[in-house]
Amino acid sequence: MRVTLSVIKADIGSVGGHITPSRRVEDRVREHVEKNRKLVYDYLTSHTGDDIAILFSHGRGVGSAEIHRLAWDAFKEGTQVAKEQGLYGAGQDLLKDAFSGNVKGMGPAVAEMEFEERPNEPFLFFAADKTEPGAYNLPLYLSFADPMHCPGLLLSPKMASGFRFVIMDVDYTEGDRVIELNAPEDLYDIAALLRDNSRFVVESIFSRSENEQVVSVSTSRLRNIAGKYTGKDDPVFLSRSQGSFPATGEILSPFAIGHYVAGTMRGSHTGPLMPVKQNSTISFFDGPPIVSCAALCVHNGKFTEAVDAFDHPFWDQVRSQVSLKAMEIRKQGFSGIAMLPYDDLEYGGIVEKMKKIDKKFVVRKEKKEKLRKAAS
Ligand code: MG
Repeated sequence: MRVTLSVIKADIGSVGGHITPSRRVEDRVREHVEKNRKLVYDYLTSHTGDDIAILFSHGRGVGSAEIHRLAWDAFKEGTQVAKEQGLYGAGQDLLKDAFSGNVKGMGPAVAEMEFEERPNEPFLFFAADKTEPGAYNLPLYLSFADPMHCPGLLLSPKMASGFRFVIMDVDYTEGDRVIELNAPEDLYDIAALLRDNSRFVVESIFSRSENEQVVSVSTSRLRNIAGKYTGKDDPVFLSRSQGSFPATGEILSPFAIGHYVAGTMRGSHTGPLMPVKQNSTISFFDGPPIVSCAALCVHNGKFTEAVDAFDHPFWDQVRSQVSLKAMEIRKQGFSGIAMLPYDDLEYGGIVEKMKKIDKKFVVRKEKKEKLRKAAS
């Protein structure tokens, strides 16, 4: 049976700052979807930090206007409650007024893929908060192209031919500018692009042996839509696992690194990505950037219960180490790599400040004169 998995998520308001959505807001979102559940095979709502995600299984294909409208309307309803409760940032990710058939480019993050369901179809749903889509670049590279994390590339004949990466240039705003590269042949080209998390982002990954889509990542950059800083993009991604795809543990493995990503306080700093339990909140320095993972199976379009992949004693140790990494980089405050480079801040208030400061610069006359003479 053909099934489409769609996850659509948005920050529509949170309690006590950027911490978590209120229970009433999340309930209202769920109620709206429940009222319309005939449109879908199944659904699941959850939150990660201040973002609410709706995961759908349905038969309507990728980019379905009905599914996108369902999510959009649910978030609109939730926003109403957020306003009634006076939540911080009510409706902040709903950047357009009228729904235009697809939530892409309207604020919410979307990851979707359609496939023929296998007899057993395990998949993972990752949601991050206080960071950007490029935060997944390193983990996806390691899970799908590096045998240090994915021994299946060596041990499973079905995976021997590797995976195809579709990478998007998210700075390009006229349309979707993408490149397709094959691992392992193009490994260094893939790495050369993926090192730059703010510009190049893995959009999807395909198995080369079966030409099947395995991964779909949300790639929207809010700054490209709003033209100003309105919060980080807080990306989601879906990955199928097992069989001719990496095992669940191979996909989870790179998240033990707690690599440094852009985000955290005011979306303007560098912090380590912490794997957290589902429905976790945001705390230290409006961070650290967090990622949660729900593991499920889908069968005939119906979900099993969602298992929390980072709710295990192993990850407690990782979280402790990531906390130390967060504190280490915080020690240097705004200096150097602790705060993002100017290019990544130019959608925020620092632009005005820099304009004012710039006018106060002087070029020393004597030196200029000396240089002029030396040149002549
Ligand atoms: Mg958020």
